[in-house]
Amino acid sequence: MAKNRTFTMIKPDATGAGNTGAIIKMIEEAGFRIVAMKKAHLSTDLAGKFYEIHKERPFYGELVAYMSSGAIVPMILEKENAVEDFRKLIGATDPKKAAPGTIRALFAKSIDANAIHGSDSDENAVIEGNFFFSQFERF
Ligand code: UDP
Ligand code: MG
Repeated sequence: MAKNRTFTMIKPDATGAGNTGAIIKMIEEAGFRIVAMKKAHLSTDLAGKFYEIHKERPFYGELVAYMSSGAIVPMILEKENAVEDFRKLIGATDPKKAAPGTIRALFAKSIDANAIHGSDSDENAVIEGNFFFSQFERF
């Protein structure tokens, strides 16, 4: 099976709690290769652009404020069936509903501060990866 790519971002609750290393370890142990990675702090403008797709949802304003409240660690990841397998590894959006052993079950604080992002399609993985990384930053 061909390898493909997904995009992820460790969110401010998890970076702030010192869980960056533990989460990266889980990602690598699950067989994902890190293609690109950095640490950054989004402005409200950039967080708003990244989540533009959720603009009409009631939590948009809070989501943008939260995502610009601290450090994030965006990454492009590679694996067979990357998008679907990564969504399995992170678990449901609401950590109370996330399967035991998933990243959100272990590290998320709430439905909004839920530790980590994972792309929902191959198409969005490309768009989201391009938002953070140039072609020269991918190995
Ligand atoms: N979110 C929120 N309240 C909700 C649903 C989602 O604050 O009721 C936030 C949460 O941080 C989530 C993000 O908005 O990760 C994007 O929502 P989506 O439905 O795409 O969930 P995901 O794909 O991240 O599981
Ligand atoms: Mg989503």
